[in-house]
Amino acid sequence: MGDPLFDDPTKPLYPLRVASELSNTSVYSLRKYVDEGLILPYQTPTKRRLYSQVDIKRILCIRKYLDEYGLNIAGIKALFAQVPCWLLKPCNEEDCIQCEAYTSATEPCWQVTTKGPTCKNEDCQTCAVYRLPEKCDDIKSLFKNLQQLNRADKKGE
Ligand code: SF4
Ligand code: SF4
Repeated sequence: MGDPLFDDPTKPLYPLRVASELSNTSVYSLRKYVDEGLILPYQTPTKRRLYSQVDIKRILCIRKYLDEYGLNIAGIKALFAQVPCWLLKPCNEEDCIQCEAYTSATEPCWQVTTKGPTCKNEDCQTCAVYRLPEKCDDIKSLFKNLQQLNRADKKGE
């Protein structure tokens, strides 16, 4: 049987310095990614940040975008902001129009100030939308899957 601590990849496990070592990323850069909203580590009641395995994957992905794809932090945020979260959540048109994420081209949905009712009380850290960028080589597949879902919906109309 596996270790329950490691069975859930969203479980906050690693303090900043360990996350830095595991991702081969400086503590300074990790703090910057957090400040910019690229990652949302868990915060303990004493304001200590703990990183999960999912966070480590995200950091590696962010590094890839920066070092190999030539994006900067603003570009990565804009890329994350393009994900149509309303297609992955049970979000209807009425919810969408109340939400900044529906129109923002620069802020990922987990970063916007005004969220629609669908997401107001949701935990972004475990949300499928927030977790998509951990598959950084596979952003195109995301859109292919969404297209298939739309086709299936149309057939069912
Ligand atoms: S409420 Fe906003 S953030 Fe949530 S799915 Fe709808 S558009 Fe996206
Ligand atoms: S729960 Fe958070 S990450 Fe998920 S769609 Fe809503 S705002 Fe985005």
